Amino acid sequence: MTADHDGTRCVRAGLPEPEPGEPFLPGPVFAAPYHLDPWMGPAAAPNGYGRADNPTRRLLEAAIGELEGGDCRVFASGQAAITGLLLTVLRPGDTVVLPSDGYFPVRTFATDTLAGVGVRVLFAPTVGPYPDFDGVRLVLVETPANPGLDVVDVPALVGRARAAGALVAVDNTTATPLGQRPLDLGADLVVASGTKALTGHSDLLLGYVASRSAELLTAVAGWRTATGAVLGAFDAWLAHRSLGTLDLRLARQTANAQALARLLATRPDVTGLRWPGLPDDPAYPVASAQMRRMPGVLCFDLGDADRVGRFLDAARLVAAATSFGGLHTSADRRAQWGDDTAPGFLRLSCGVEDTADLVADVTAALDVAHR
Ligand SMILES: *Cc1c(COP(=O)(O)O)cnc(C)c1O
Repeated sequence: MTADHDGTRCVRAGLPEPEPGEPFLPGPVFAAPYHLDPWMGPAAAPNGYGRADNPTRRLLEAAIGELEGGDCRVFASGQAAITGLLLTVLRPGDTVVLPSDGYFPVRTFATDTLAGVGVRVLFAPTVGPYPDFDGVRLVLVETPANPGLDVVDVPALVGRARAAGALVAVDNTTATPLGQRPLDLGADLVVASGTKALTGHSDLLLGYVASRSAELLTAVAGWRTATGAVLGAFDAWLAHRSLGTLDLRLARQTANAQALARLLATRPDVTGLRWPGLPDDPAYPVASAQMRRMPGVLCFDLGDADRVGRFLDAARLVAAATSFGGLHTSADRRAQWGDDTAPGFLRLSCGVEDTADLVADVTAALDVAHR
């Protein structure tokens, strides 16, 4: 049997075996407690109490696990998954290496909470240089990094970390498991927000941890049950329903990002353009070797907040909104959230609109903003 391609894998991922009279994807199971066997109690069935387990969630975990190539546990948000992983793995006295240019709330959590409980926190830029990994317990990288879109060579980093006995976790939010498979590249763990391109409809929050290590995943699941940051059944069902179109959505988003990158590269009013799929982007050599497809997100600088405001106001197809990976093209001036980016820095997330419409709209809006 030949291996299925991405679109086929997405529409089938995590679905139960066909049963006459049953739906393709069973509806959400809403339950806190379930009926128990009066004698055997929770030992008789997988469902006992909703914080520990839920059948809708299990199907979603099977689906994401299939796409990542490991086992998966979902959380109520990406932040819940990432902080859950950090607090599961790290103990006072441990050292963790985090990206200095990665997702801002993770950095804040590290300096506020992890450092406060005695974890030594080191920061390294995604492109390096990385510190000596001797004595490091966990290296978390984000590739491509949000929002700067730098990329790190995962197999090379894994080699160095493994030699020092450190675990490697890759934040796969921007790439999604169709864009890159960190477990195949040697990482011990994947963490991600499924809020973004993975589910792609701007209507739910989701996070997950994936791994091939049963020991690590059991610890992560234990943490989740103990702290309770679980995903509700309806959101789990919505997320699973959205996965079926992931291949289609990403294909259009990548095509739109490529067209916009080509346009923006020609504009004198745009500086600092980054998209790992552009052959002259600094991330291109590593990204094109380790990624299976390029993200639908790009970033650039319009000089100041005022010009960003004029651009967003003039654009019909670019919504001013944070987050990324949704059906609708959106752009976010990160500095307005207290991020450490420049005032005119914009992260633009391509939706699934027709490429020609988007290029025309962005061109017209840049012309207005430039005046
Ligand atoms: C959005 C994001 C997160 C956090 O995910 P939420 O679902 O918003 O909690 C973590 N990492 C990266 C790279 C993100 O973009």
